[in-house]
Amino acid sequence: MKAEGEGGAGVSSSFILHERACLPSNRSLCLTAVMPSPVILAPLSARARASSPFVFIGERLWLDFVNTEDTCRGARIDALVEFDEFVRWLQVATVLDGERAAAIRRRALQQPTGASAALVDARRVRAALRALAERGYHFPLIRGSVLSEVNRVLGRSAGTRRVEQREDGTYMRTFVPVGDAFAGLMMPIVESAADALISGELLRVRRCAAARCARVFHDGTKNGRRRWCDMATCGNRAKAARHRAVLKAGRS
Ligand SMILES: [Zn+2]
Repeated sequence: MKAEGEGGAGVSSSFILHERACLPSNRSLCLTAVMPSPVILAPLSARARASSPFVFIGERLWLDFVNTEDTCRGARIDALVEFDEFVRWLQVATVLDGERAAAIRRRALQQPTGASAALVDARRVRAALRALAERGYHFPLIRGSVLSEVNRVLGRSAGTRRVEQREDGTYMRTFVPVGDAFAGLMMPIVESAADALISGELLRVRRCAAARCARVFHDGTKNGRRRWCDMATCGNRAKAARHRAVLKAGRS
């Protein structure tokens, strides 16, 4: 599958991963206030958003990644079944630009076993990050085991950190891995989770209050009372259910 931005870029020996602590809010999906984040990237293009099957309501990169395992009517849906979908997510999340994503895809064609292993590992890290998001604040044991996962990923990714200017004049942090290009793909996600641990913001990480919704998010509201992943879906359903309950109580 070809993704947006894929084109005539040559294969380079290294790939630059764009670090991002918080994706700019997708207004069609998230109606709550967005906290300023240490790294602000340019908003996604309308085209990328419109064609994306992914949700970005987590307000933190690592939480958006956890939400690639989503639910629909109570059934789990994995948005990362193929390696190409993983690369596409990284691209839509602005972690990889089109040129680097294309280069990673070409590398994956040359090394399908390595790409498959990278996907399996990404899902393993995702499971650990979900545990951190859902139970990490209350359970030190979970924080300890996730820390091992985080350090495992950080430890195998050698590279160079840089600050680069985008075409639109804004700036971004980048990480240029050396050696195994696949090994570096999870770096920005894992660093985003490390930021949550370091800054002590696990207290603000929530799972959607809807029983059948598994999405997690950072509650950046002033009063800390965000309950829903998305007001347009789970929030509205809860509102409608409350309304029905009131009507029923009025009739009885
Ligand atoms: Zn929800």
